[in-house]
Amino acid sequence: MRSTMMDTPLQVARILEHGATVHGTAEVVTWTGAEPRRMTYAEVARTAARLAHALRNECGVTGDERVGTFMWNNNEHLVAYFAVPSMGAVLHTLNIRLFPDQVAYVANHAEDRVVLVDSTLIPLLARVIGEMTTVRHVVVVGGGDPAPLLAAAGDRIVVHHWDALLADRPEVYDWPAVDERDAAALCYTSGTTGHPKGVAYSHRSIYLHSLQICLPEAFGLDPSTRELVIVPMFHAMSWGLPYAAFLSGASLVMPDRFLQAAPIAEMIATERPTLAAAVPTIWTDLLAYLDTHEVDVSGLREVIVGGSACPPALMHAFAERYGIELVHAWGMTEMSPLGSVSRPPAGATGEDAWRYRYTQGRVPAGVDARIVGPDATVLPADGTSVGELEVRGPWVTARYLGDEAPDGEKFRDGWLRTGDVGTLSPDGFIVLTDRSKDVIKSGGEWISSVELENALMAHPAVLEACVVGVPDERWDERPLATVVFREGASATPEDLREFLAGSVARWQLPERWAFIEAVPKTSVGKFDKKVVRARYADGALQ
Ligand code: ADP
Repeated sequence: MRSTMMDTPLQVARILEHGATVHGTAEVVTWTGAEPRRMTYAEVARTAARLAHALRNECGVTGDERVGTFMWNNNEHLVAYFAVPSMGAVLHTLNIRLFPDQVAYVANHAEDRVVLVDSTLIPLLARVIGEMTTVRHVVVVGGGDPAPLLAAAGDRIVVHHWDALLADRPEVYDWPAVDERDAAALCYTSGTTGHPKGVAYSHRSIYLHSLQICLPEAFGLDPSTRELVIVPMFHAMSWGLPYAAFLSGASLVMPDRFLQAAPIAEMIATERPTLAAAVPTIWTDLLAYLDTHEVDVSGLREVIVGGSACPPALMHAFAERYGIELVHAWGMTEMSPLGSVSRPPAGATGEDAWRYRYTQGRVPAGVDARIVGPDATVLPADGTSVGELEVRGPWVTARYLGDEAPDGEKFRDGWLRTGDVGTLSPDGFIVLTDRSKDVIKSGGEWISSVELENALMAHPAVLEACVVGVPDERWDERPLATVVFREGASATPEDLREFLAGSVARWQLPERWAFIEAVPKTSVGKFDKKVVRARYADGALQ
């Protein structure tokens, strides 16, 4: 029997209209270094309508053409997040930190027709616009001189200024009905090996994912929440926070280009976000700043930390010194990105609750997970069997953009192979020991680089520690520990080995050490293990 229910498509435009009416007075605030710029959600919707008219009438965007953004987290980027998919076109968030040839590659692969750029990023875009062969229009946000863009791309492109382009456009747009399975937004993985790969989110996947994000088991959003969205809007759609804000009525605080600890601390003190989200390295820097400056962080209740494993020592430091709960979450660009959030089950308290919080968290209803052994057998979800984590669900990609069929390296029987290694408990908690390419294979046994890093980062002298496997004649691979000390602190390899021996098996202790100024980071702020390996494998202290 078919249901009697209405077949209302799940569209981004519905999220926009809900936010603009029911939560029309909620606001998005963009940090500027001076007076912040504010917009209500009702204004975001009116501006989105103006942008859509401009894109259609001046830039000729029709059908599912792609509109790229080369922008920080700010009001105008939020407007584009809604305008582009709502008009039926496809938003492509370009990662400004990719290598120039990769930015050009993804823009060409996606066939971007228009690029919206923050004026502060004109010099960066000018380095690649000449290679972006499908781009015809560039819209500059903020008053910047577009000459470098024209010099690089010549008369292939027309440059517009946001304010002038949007002036006098109608403030309503008759958003078309779209097939909810059509693409709404595109994101590329950061491509640490080979070309970046594209993932096309549908209106339906965005809608369902946004609902999940709002739930108490996930990020727990409601109209009293103020989200400080540090995770870039070009990295896995800011983990779904902007769209979820419009569904839930949560307000948004956007840092624009002010991503250092000092301005982040000031935003927390003055805009009083209740929730924030970013990769662990941001919180490591902020912790060091808070420990040496007087900052009122009393408004901040929770911080969502993901993108790489969150060191337990960081969670304890924030909880014990500042009363802020770091909530560990795991996800991937391929998963929209939410895969799991670590909320302890009801009844867990004290040490027991902490053990749950260290895990990557529990899968939501929209994500099926399984652990698969090296011989492709599915292992039991018993919390101890270790293998590769595979997932599937309505907001997980089934293939990469442009591939006719799922790539066998990354997909198996309708499941996404995450490349992450770990365990799954009977009640759905994931514990990741490593990425499969980062596990250190020593004498036929596996050493978790993440476990060594977490243990090292609990040492009082250590600010950051990144551990990689390096070739070893006898054991195949051995761990190399690269360590950044806190200001004024230091330790010897013997001290650190001694300290590690308290929590790690002796045979796993690193013999090779490099004491460095900063750990190299990827375009989205994670430890760049490929660079660490290449740079420090030779010449480390032994
Ligand atoms: P990229 O691959 O470009 O870094 P993604 O954000 O899509 O971008 O990376 C997803 C990967 O990040 C996951 O497969 C996993 O290896 C890692 N990751 C994300 N969150 C966590 C976490 N909480 N703990 C450990 N690893 C994580």
